[in-house]
Amino acid sequence: MTTATTLSRAEYLMELEEQHGAHNYHPLPVVLERGRGVYLWDVDGKRYYDFLSAYSAVNQGHCHQLIVDVLKKQAEKLTLTSRAFHNNVLGEYEKYITEYFGYDKVLPMNTGVEAVETAIKLARRWAYEVKGIKDNKAKIIVPEGNFHGRTILAISASTDPSSFAGFGPLVPNFVVVPYNDLTALSKALEDKDVAGFLVEPIQGEAGVNVPDENYLAKAKFLCEKANVLFIADEIQTGLGRTGKLLACDWEEVRPDILILGKALSGGTLPASAVLCDNEIMMTIKPGEHGSTYGGNPLACKVAMAALQVIKDENLVYNAFYLGKYFRNELARLKHPMIKEIRGKGLLNAIVLDTEDETFGWDLCVRLMENGLLAKPTHNYIIRLAPPLCITKEQIDDCVAIIAKSLG
Ligand code: PLP
Repeated sequence: MTTATTLSRAEYLMELEEQHGAHNYHPLPVVLERGRGVYLWDVDGKRYYDFLSAYSAVNQGHCHQLIVDVLKKQAEKLTLTSRAFHNNVLGEYEKYITEYFGYDKVLPMNTGVEAVETAIKLARRWAYEVKGIKDNKAKIIVPEGNFHGRTILAISASTDPSSFAGFGPLVPNFVVVPYNDLTALSKALEDKDVAGFLVEPIQGEAGVNVPDENYLAKAKFLCEKANVLFIADEIQTGLGRTGKLLACDWEEVRPDILILGKALSGGTLPASAVLCDNEIMMTIKPGEHGSTYGGNPLACKVAMAALQVIKDENLVYNAFYLGKYFRNELARLKHPMIKEIRGKGLLNAIVLDTEDETFGWDLCVRLMENGLLAKPTHNYIIRLAPPLCITKEQIDDCVAIIAKSLG
């Protein structure tokens, strides 16, 4: 390694990661050390707008004071008991979150992908015990382009070779259909061994793919008709991000299994949740599923605070209203490099009109230099998803930065 004295502090810190960490990410060359609301600051004190929000985990804004206060208070009292014992926060949280979303029960986990895994286990168990599918035959339908995380189960559902290639053998019995294609879904649902349809209401990682109006409602109808569970992965789209509390609310769809993560803790610690009714949840008995940290009192307190902030600060409405405003302002630029602007609420993307594979990355570097952090997905799509507490004036400022960076 080059000696630290010849490097700037930021270069030194990036070099440490390069030398000692796995190379499983390719971050922009910026080293962050502080965050507040929509802003992040790097180690040299330069301020940026955060337009990634840690992949939608920071809907409430960075280091939200109320959430941090709750976290600090609970951290000094009790953080982890495991589920071998009861704790005085879990039940309160379970009541709070099930009433918040209108389900009988919740199963708390930590990361998003663990919650996806939990949802699939529940769907399979329900398929064998309630629907009557023969042992080990249950199938799950997933749309092309899906992203549900990085475990073997999640990559087995994936259609992106950079996710699954070289990690086999994969988990069998995922049936892939094109996204936003009801005819294909209807055909796949004819198979009597299908337990569930696992779907992102908007595909985030695939590039903010918004399906046609009524896709979700019609898909839910088809699933009901086929006695198949509609499983919504709202890890990225939920909790106000798309201008509704859940993206499924746009079409008044109530998922049979609802998966939440990311912003459930306002970006402070890993907290995820699976919500469903008794018919599904009660198929899992003591000792059959769990997690050491799942349902820990620290995460439970933090999640209640994070959910309350979404309500108290009208973040859902802010995302709805400012999302529309943001897309309109981007459209008004009429920039020749912008082929398409898409999204809902504050989950948006611009599709660049270029064949140049490095253009998206170069644009993100220019945005960074101009004080806005975003990341390309699939080279030519830039996701634009600021914390939901952003203001109209800040959006104006950011549109100007985007215009300047596009040149
Ligand atoms: N599901 C969706 C829709 C996601 O966007 C993500 C992460 O980006 C995940 C699941 C995985 O969540 P985690 O990274 O917390 O495991």
